[in-house]
Amino acid sequence: MSQRKIALACSVCGSRNYTIAASATRTQRLEVNKFCKHCGKYTLHRETR
Ligand SMILES: [Zn+2]
Repeated sequence: MSQRKIALACSVCGSRNYTIAASATRTQRLEVNKFCKHCGKYTLHRETR
């Protein structure tokens, strides 16, 4: 079991707004709806490396 840090970047403007610790037991790429202060609204955030 290992954990790694994952940055979540806004899919609209590309800003990295969130960092989370995700377990290794993930089934698919993370895509989360989160608030982007740059866009001023909720946008889809994807994991980056
Ligand atoms: Zn954004």
